[in-house]
Amino acid sequence: MKTAWSERLEAWCGRVAKRLRLPNYTCDVCGREVFDGARICDACLSAMPRIEVCCPLCGRKVNEAGVCMECKARRLAAEKCRAVFTHEGEAARLVTRYKGGARYLREAIADLMLPVLEREFADTDALVPVPMTDAARRRRGFDHARLIAEALSARSGKPVLSAVVKQKETAQQKTLSRREREKNLEGCFHVRDRAAVRDKTLLIIDDTLTTGATVHALAGVLLRAKAKRVCALTLTGVEQRHPFGVPSGEEPHPALL
Ligand SMILES: [Zn+2]
Ligand SMILES: [Zn+2]
Repeated sequence: MKTAWSERLEAWCGRVAKRLRLPNYTCDVCGREVFDGARICDACLSAMPRIEVCCPLCGRKVNEAGVCMECKARRLAAEKCRAVFTHEGEAARLVTRYKGGARYLREAIADLMLPVLEREFADTDALVPVPMTDAARRRRGFDHARLIAEALSARSGKPVLSAVVKQKETAQQKTLSRREREKNLEGCFHVRDRAAVRDKTLLIIDDTLTTGATVHALAGVLLRAKAKRVCALTLTGVEQRHPFGVPSGEEPHPALL
């Protein structure tokens, strides 16, 4: 039987191994031992809220195949978005831990996103991580979307494009509706290298699709810079708020509060 200190020692060894990028022997989600070098154990993988049926446009989970009510009401500028999981349970916790500072989780996140990239976005020319302002990067200590894009690039061979910058700090978006978020994001992304974008099929990379406002704004500037196609891939997608139609006065999703 394991004692508390031996469990702590084991967890510490696991963290050191991940920092040093030694072969994995503990699951990144539950911390239990794994024997095949996988970053996430089979039990955690099968318990994660994978999206099986999704809206063909925004990629959110839907109960019946077809375009969701939100996309019928208002389409995103990105042609096709996909998320691997709904933003709940262990998938949501993985995002929270990653953005909270557990950078090594980018490898597990990229492992989970790669099959969707290969299946749905094989014709992508380059990956475009959602950019952060310098101030936001300094606050967090790292650029979370860029690290995921770089880990995906190492696996897929698709280059990461640094052609877009976020030039304006946006107010906290958590409590805003999609329209308020869109207003908040107006003019905040700037394409500084239009030649790198022109005629390219681009894939926006981020951790989570919430209202879609960020992807919408970024896809808009890329398309105005003459990108050929813009799509988006995230690890999680917040489930559709109004499966039976969008009410006139939009409210923030409870998961965002
Ligand atoms: Zn596990
Ligand atoms: Zn949709």
